[in-house]
Amino acid sequence: MLKFKLELSKQQKRLFLEQTIAYTNAISYILEKNLKDKSTNVKKLHRLYYKEVREKFNLPAQLAVNVIRETSAIYKTLWAQFKELKRRKPNSKSVKKFWDKPPKRKSLIAKYTHNRTFSVKPDKLVVSLSTYAGRVKNIPIKGWNKHYEYLKQGKISDPILVYDKSSKTFFIYIPITLKVPQQKPKQIVGVDLGERHIFGIASTTEQKELIDIPDEYKHRKQRYHSLRSELMSKGTRSAKRKLQKNSRREKRFTENVLHIMAKQLISKYPNAKFVFEDLTQIRQNRITYRGKNKEARRHAEQWPFASIISKVIYKNTIQYGIESEKVNPYFTSQTCPVCGHVDPNNRPNKGEVFTCTNCDYTEHADIVGAINIALRYIVKKQDENLKGLLVSQPNAPRELT
Ligand SMILES: [Zn+2]
Repeated sequence: MLKFKLELSKQQKRLFLEQTIAYTNAISYILEKNLKDKSTNVKKLHRLYYKEVREKFNLPAQLAVNVIRETSAIYKTLWAQFKELKRRKPNSKSVKKFWDKPPKRKSLIAKYTHNRTFSVKPDKLVVSLSTYAGRVKNIPIKGWNKHYEYLKQGKISDPILVYDKSSKTFFIYIPITLKVPQQKPKQIVGVDLGERHIFGIASTTEQKELIDIPDEYKHRKQRYHSLRSELMSKGTRSAKRKLQKNSRREKRFTENVLHIMAKQLISKYPNAKFVFEDLTQIRQNRITYRGKNKEARRHAEQWPFASIISKVIYKNTIQYGIESEKVNPYFTSQTCPVCGHVDPNNRPNKGEVFTCTNCDYTEHADIVGAINIALRYIVKKQDENLKGLLVSQPNAPRELT
């Protein structure tokens, strides 16, 4: 996703603000009306609300279509959340109250459609956008130099227009798919994301190490955290304002740190195929994985693992043309990579040291995790290759078949 600032005149800004507010209100309007049905069916929602929304909120046709689509998508998400909540806490208050209030869109965001309500000239660095008062053409965009390059190279999809209230600025987020020629990896690098050390690393080039987030960043994160608790306990109006400002700053800071850590990882391990744990499969495994240490757990929640993984994957694809992999994380922290023995006691007290109860192999637990993650990918790959070999072996001796 590429982010650009829109350079708008005062008048244009007012126009887009009006339209984005209308778009947001239109979504909230249907979200409320649909609460009875909770329908996710786009055709049905279109039949019921399209005309009404276009007239009531004065939206261009394609934007009204997107309002309907977004509403459907929001209800889909809500249904998924509801089912998950019901599975976990069937008789809880939050399940009973889940549908009490209609959902509301708060941020000022509108989705546009590439080559219909939106177009871009990457060589001139201008965009044009539809409004109810006609097309606004040749709006200059500003962003990072690298993003200008990607805009020229990549395949562009439907963007979103975002109004940032704090800076009173419009940004356009343009998703792109880069066509990077695929390269062969020179090493396979297992990465274990951990609470104590952000990366446990094991590479097929025989490097292994623990990488930490620098203390300076950790401390700053903790300061944001304690300020948050302090402001939350106050609860006054000015505290709430400060809280919002604080959380915006914290978010920007976190993003920045993750970028730095991701960059560091891919430059230390060039031309690598990175293998991560598949975090979507980790939930059931969490108790064995995270440990009991409260402090450690808090750290784990502070640095979003999913976000750092996606940053490494993205940067590595662009820089080296190598896709990353995700593997099933089950028991990666309890399995001995030398003899294969699986035992929770391999890691006494879920501490930092791994000692195999069968073969005495000893290593830092996060390195063991990383080795197992890399191995899992290698085994999977060998399995595939082996299958291919067995199926398509034309010269197999007759006696054996
Ligand atoms: Zn062992």
